[in-house]
Amino acid sequence: MTKTAECVCGGGRHGCVCGAYDSVVMYANLNDAAEATDNPELAVGDTEIWYMRPEQWRFRRPVTNSTLAQTHILLGHIACKSKNRTWALMQGDNWSPRGEANNLIQSKGLQRTSMSVGDVIVVDGKIYEVAPVDFVFISKTNEK
Ligand SMILES: [Zn+2]
Repeated sequence: MTKTAECVCGGGRHGCVCGAYDSVVMYANLNDAAEATDNPELAVGDTEIWYMRPEQWRFRRPVTNSTLAQTHILLGHIACKSKNRTWALMQGDNWSPRGEANNLIQSKGLQRTSMSVGDVIVVDGKIYEVAPVDFVFISKTNEK
């Protein structure tokens, strides 16, 4: 994984005319973003990133430890231990600025790149759901 060229025309992902987005190297996994975006906290670690399954938007089943895999999809493991920092890192503009994660997201059965309300972070054995403001503690991973 090598860092791709910076956009110097200012057009951004959708309006670039300088060619920076022409050769996007797709991520094989979430941790490819660490080098590609110079964020070592995205390297492999113990923090689990779970995104809501697309159908969960409609059904909104409550998040529990025992049903997490039914309502959410494990996107990957990262090194970051801060929930706020994880949320910021997992915004698409940060970890997939050129759409590098598009194939990965699709292959996981997901439909969006950015972490959103309802997604889950498991850090230090504790399950947290992303809330409109802050995070809601659900349970420890060794509890029901
Ligand atoms: Zn450009």
